[in-house]
Amino acid sequence: VPHSTALNNAPTAGALLAILRDERIATRATLGEKAELSRLALNQRLALLLDADLVCAAGQEPSTGGRPPIQFQFNPLAGFLIGADLGISVARIAITDLVGRVLAYAEERRLIEDGPEVTLPWVARQAESLLSGLDKKLDNVWGVGVGVPGPVEFEAGRVVSAPFMSGWDHYPIRLWFEDRFGCPAVIDKDANIMALGEHRSHWRRFDHILYVKAGTGVGCGVIAMGDLHRGANGSAGDIGHIQHRGDGEPLCRCGKTGCVEAVAGGWALVRDLRAQGIQVSTAEDVVRLAGGHDRVALQAIRRAGRVLGEVLADVVNFFNPSVVIVGGTIGQAEGELLAGIRETVYQRSLTLATKNLLVVPSALGLRAGVIGAAQLVSEAILAPGAIDQRLAAMQGRSLQESTIPMASAGS
Ligand SMILES: [Zn+2]
Repeated sequence: VPHSTALNNAPTAGALLAILRDERIATRATLGEKAELSRLALNQRLALLLDADLVCAAGQEPSTGGRPPIQFQFNPLAGFLIGADLGISVARIAITDLVGRVLAYAEERRLIEDGPEVTLPWVARQAESLLSGLDKKLDNVWGVGVGVPGPVEFEAGRVVSAPFMSGWDHYPIRLWFEDRFGCPAVIDKDANIMALGEHRSHWRRFDHILYVKAGTGVGCGVIAMGDLHRGANGSAGDIGHIQHRGDGEPLCRCGKTGCVEAVAGGWALVRDLRAQGIQVSTAEDVVRLAGGHDRVALQAIRRAGRVLGEVLADVVNFFNPSVVIVGGTIGQAEGELLAGIRETVYQRSLTLATKNLLVVPSALGLRAGVIGAAQLVSEAILAPGAIDQRLAAMQGRSLQESTIPMASAGS
């Protein structure tokens, strides 16, 4: 029995790919050593990965006499991913390689309240047109990641009771995409995918970070121990509806009064500016005004920053992150918003919690969502188990043709 257990625990082709990705470039000898596989077992697994185009030969190692050993590397262009970030008033979509690098991108002013039956076909059409620009087809898509501006039941892949998302409640978004594209899809709330995108692209060396989405609404994505923390039901990080002290009690779109979002959300800034006779209709309009140094818009954003800072001060005390990243549409007015946030956080948080705390603007900007959505699905489809499934399915399809013994692909 111990013998068979050892056999079952030998790294699969999927696990071998993960080892190769860690190594970046490796020879057969290095891979065999790292994976603790016999030459035969290694060659079998490598042949599967080479057949699937997931691994390709890299540059030759300098020869020390004799034939130089072949070096292998992961090929992120073996397949393509779709990353979509459906905001309240802007929809963004990207085609990426298998590790989430953007190859094609499009955005359009669209309202989420148009509902899934209008919005999802738009995403599909955009994806197809971006793919054809890259000379690729739907068959080349391995996964779809989608972010939405509301609470998501992650396992079920659907939105639950999101304000401003009428028509989306319990709509099976994940199934819709899986059906349309014939590949795995993942759905998450937008602040989560943005947090993941920022963490994987720029802050991987830190295990605990917060991503604050200051957009039309206010949300927060939590990276704990290096991974997304969604909580028991998927609502972790929902700081927008924490009761904010003072400043009167404006009515929130969630039906309660005095929420952070009802003061600091983009929609609240629109409301406040309009009350002063300034013609704005979206968070983007407010940021545009601020960019043109409009005094009222700048003051409103700074005040929003202070209100956000008050809540974040408590969150920072509780969670003790290394980095707080501020993004989203209002986050684009980073000077004013960050000034307000920093002012309050450093003043109110405990010394130990702020000792090495960084409060920084988003590095990915408004593309954080599409990059993070692609990252999310990338991690799912490149997981060793998922790779093994894909290889098994490919093998099943080409069973009749496989008359060449596996071992012959070796050396
Ligand atoms: Zn609220």
